[in-house]
Amino acid sequence: MSTKILVVEDDPNIGALVRTYLRRAGYEPIWVRSGEEALVELRRHPIGLVLLDIGLPGIDGFEVCRRIGGRTAVIMLTARDEEPDRVAGLELGADDYVPKPFSPRELVARVKAVLRRAAQPAATGDVSSVGPLTLARGSREVRVDGQEVELTQREFDLLEYLLRHAGQVVTRDQLLESVWGFLAAGETRTVEVHVAQVRKKLGHPELIKTVRGLGYKASAG
Ligand code: CA
Repeated sequence: MSTKILVVEDDPNIGALVRTYLRRAGYEPIWVRSGEEALVELRRHPIGLVLLDIGLPGIDGFEVCRRIGGRTAVIMLTARDEEPDRVAGLELGADDYVPKPFSPRELVARVKAVLRRAAQPAATGDVSSVGPLTLARGSREVRVDGQEVELTQREFDLLEYLLRHAGQVVTRDQLLESVWGFLAAGETRTVEVHVAQVRKKLGHPELIKTVRGLGYKASAG
């Protein structure tokens, strides 16, 4: 059975193009043109991933993303020059964003990368800790001073990678490749937004240090 991908896009040209490419890649696209229809389809079928336009008639992409609440992987489709939109989408728990205009091939590559990560079996039960922070891979639990911290899947993966390399400098490109599963020039802002979110949630920004010009380092000292 092929994976169902919900395409939420009111632009008929983009919707048709995306549907064609997803079919060619072996997926089963379900195309709707409004947020309301998207929510109906999400209840009706097991959806593997949602491709979500932001500007929609009726409820917008942000609201749909908020209602999905991290239960289904989401890639937001954003118009260029919509930096605040992009940041807001990632903060709402979107797994990725693709700026318009996009190449359909690249979009399919992003879809594959997000689905691959979502399908990964739970890692080993190893626990990593740095200072007051502990991360359990098996249960995907993160605690600071014993208090559980709620992270999105992507934020957890990012923190997990940093802790696996605790004490070492990890570059933004390394994070993009390992956590997002692709390398693209100019995408480092995505990493920065996620790191800022994780720091905020941990309440201990010093645990993830910025190493100027290089990247990040998780360390207690
Ligand atoms: Ca639109």
